Amino acid sequence: MIPFLDLKSINSQYRAELIEACTRVIDSGWYIGGNELAQFEQNFAEYCGVKFAIGVANGLDALILTLRAWKELGKLNDGDEVIVPSNTYIASILAITANNLTPVLVEPDINTYNIDPNKIEAAITPKTKVILPVHLYGQLAEMPAIMAIAKKYNLLVLEDSAQSHGAEIKGIKAGNWGDASGFSFYPGKNLGALGDAGAVTTNNEELAQMLRALRNYGSHEKYKNLVPGVNSRLDEIQAAMLDVKLKYLENEIKNRRELANLYLEGIQNPFIQLPLFNIDARNYIQHVWHLFVIQTEYRDELYNFLKNNGVQTLIHYPVPPHKQQAYKEWNELSFPLTERIHDEVLSLPIGPTQTTEETKYIIELCNIFVPQGSN
Ligand SMILES: *Cc1c(COP(=O)(O)O)cnc(C)c1O
Repeated sequence: MIPFLDLKSINSQYRAELIEACTRVIDSGWYIGGNELAQFEQNFAEYCGVKFAIGVANGLDALILTLRAWKELGKLNDGDEVIVPSNTYIASILAITANNLTPVLVEPDINTYNIDPNKIEAAITPKTKVILPVHLYGQLAEMPAIMAIAKKYNLLVLEDSAQSHGAEIKGIKAGNWGDASGFSFYPGKNLGALGDAGAVTTNNEELAQMLRALRNYGSHEKYKNLVPGVNSRLDEIQAAMLDVKLKYLENEIKNRRELANLYLEGIQNPFIQLPLFNIDARNYIQHVWHLFVIQTEYRDELYNFLKNNGVQTLIHYPVPPHKQQAYKEWNELSFPLTERIHDEVLSLPIGPTQTTEETKYIIELCNIFVPQGSN
């Protein structure tokens, strides 16, 4: 079986260094809020090109705490509206509702899967305070257009960069476009810890300070609490693991790009649509291929065909947020593009340790696939 993502083989590459880092933390006697975290925060901020990175417990908390910090800083109030893509992973939306803010769902561009800037302006009301673009599948949302709209209407921008560490437009990376950005280091993300972890990046010092307090009970100084915070810390072991893996991120992205190019050049089947990643902008968008997502009307059939031939694929995502039981109040709403995407997308394997042979085998299968229902 070709696995969708072989985490064991990815992390084995760095086994010796990871063990060395682990040993260093064990022997230090210091496990929360020490040098490992400070070092990783500095290195990750530098990688993204921003002034500050603030480690937190996971990607969801990175988003929740940023919105929360803006509330504490008086920039947001209960009931304010946040524009978010309707086809995102549910975490982006949970962060909004967890803060008593109101999500306003906007459809994506069917070619890029990212929020359609042309539809954002129509969704803006006097209550709109934030745009929360999600850089889905490894490709930045159309940030130049989104930032122009934000400027025109004086809105905050919170990027959800959980799937796009290192992705760029015009040389500016994910995490350095908006007022702040949430990252996840869940093991399966392009930069993955060996457990849960996340971070916020920003160039705003006031926000960075508020986030440092919020993640630690609202305390910036021991036993002094500025605001009622939470416990959402990135521990020393995970920070040390991430600092090892950060060094190899660019190389892993390069491997992913090579595999993506094989797919893009090799798959030729009228029933399968390849990711277009914004045809107009192909030259300036630097995709990091967290996922290689194809579209086909015969998705379930292709899924089974690949599975029966030893290839594991996944669906990102089978049910859109507005059809989830968690958001019953939206179940009757209609987002046709989003619903089509959820019915037709399939993610092919694209891990950084996947071989050319494996990839060519998957391409061959895609090319001989003929759906039963097609004649
Ligand atoms: C993974 C993910 C998150 C949440 O990250 P966790 O670390 O799992 O909490 C948020 N948004 C998107 C788009 C994601 O893919």
